[in-house]
Amino acid sequence: AIKTVDDNYFGSYSSFGIHREMLGDKVRTDAYRDAILGNPSLISGATVLDVGCGTGILSLFAARAGASRVVAVDGSAKMASVATQVAKNNGLLYDENVEAEQKQGSAQVISVVHTKAEELNQKIQVPQNGFDLLVSEWMGYCLLYESMLSSVIYARDHFLKPGGAILPDTAMILGAGFGKGGTSLPFWENVYGFDMSCIGKEVTSTSARFPVVDVLSSQDIVTETAVLHSFDLASMKESEMDFTASFELMLSESSATVSGVTWCYGIVLWFDTGFTDRFCKEKPVVLSTSPFSTPTHWSQTIFTFEEPIAMAKEESTLGSSALAGTDECPATALRSRISIVRASEHRSIDISVETTAI
Ligand code: SAH
Repeated sequence: AIKTVDDNYFGSYSSFGIHREMLGDKVRTDAYRDAILGNPSLISGATVLDVGCGTGILSLFAARAGASRVVAVDGSAKMASVATQVAKNNGLLYDENVEAEQKQGSAQVISVVHTKAEELNQKIQVPQNGFDLLVSEWMGYCLLYESMLSSVIYARDHFLKPGGAILPDTAMILGAGFGKGGTSLPFWENVYGFDMSCIGKEVTSTSARFPVVDVLSSQDIVTETAVLHSFDLASMKESEMDFTASFELMLSESSATVSGVTWCYGIVLWFDTGFTDRFCKEKPVVLSTSPFSTPTHWSQTIFTFEEPIAMAKEESTLGSSALAGTDECPATALRSRISIVRASEHRSIDISVETTAI
């Protein structure tokens, strides 16, 4: 049999390692738990659709938080069967054979359906006016890599009631410039006292061609942060997943040195998602994958320049003298154009970064 892209995609979610990694990511899972358990006015009595349930964790939270009905769907047969077993073992699986009166107040509300979210209505009777709430953890690296966002948008438009709630309801891609500490150059410059910087140069010139997923420390950030794009998940269209952002990055106060230039080696991107007070009235939550926050399994996405760019504050006269002998003058800011477009290859994206010194 020929394996389709979907077979491979759902197959990759059928091994437990990836679910262990997601569940073990406390920043991620706590954010969903807090949003679901901290907002009874949203969840209590609500009908909930969990798009891409995996182990079923979000559905389990919703059942515990008093949802009246939870439909958990996954395109992976393995995960749908595992989620069914987990819900059952925790006394939260819906049982058709129990009389309606006996169900009153029961937390046995979860049904698991093995289907692509897009085909849900071919498998079950979707509530007449749609679900009250859609919950999903769909984010990929740099928000949109491997993204199942289009499936979430489809499910929102077809199975959520008009004006229904979605968790999370906002997402934002942000970026900032980083210094040498954000590269592997310092490591290769001194390996047990030997200079291996030639390897470091080769490594950085390779990573200039491909983005690298890794954790940066806030100490390595040398510019202010810019917002590239904001998504309103309650209303965005699928076509918005392709965009071009133009923005400027100013040298940050803390990185400006009076004595000279600060070198910027590249741009790091990350995302935040919001469970805002639009739907989470009692307890709004932010899930941040920023280098200024506790690292998550998404890390950050790092784009290294071919050549570092010298930056200095305008006031810094010494800045230019540090580059004396060259005809260059340090930049006071970077102007960057980043476009993110979905590749023809399923679920993959192409990111292009162009940066000039200004
Ligand atoms: N909600 C779980 C799992 C998130 S991983 C958690 O928070 O831990 C995303 C899951 O969505 C995977 O199990 C994958 O198989 C499933 N998935 C991705 N696209 C889907 C689609 N279009 N329809 C149904 N399931 C999908």
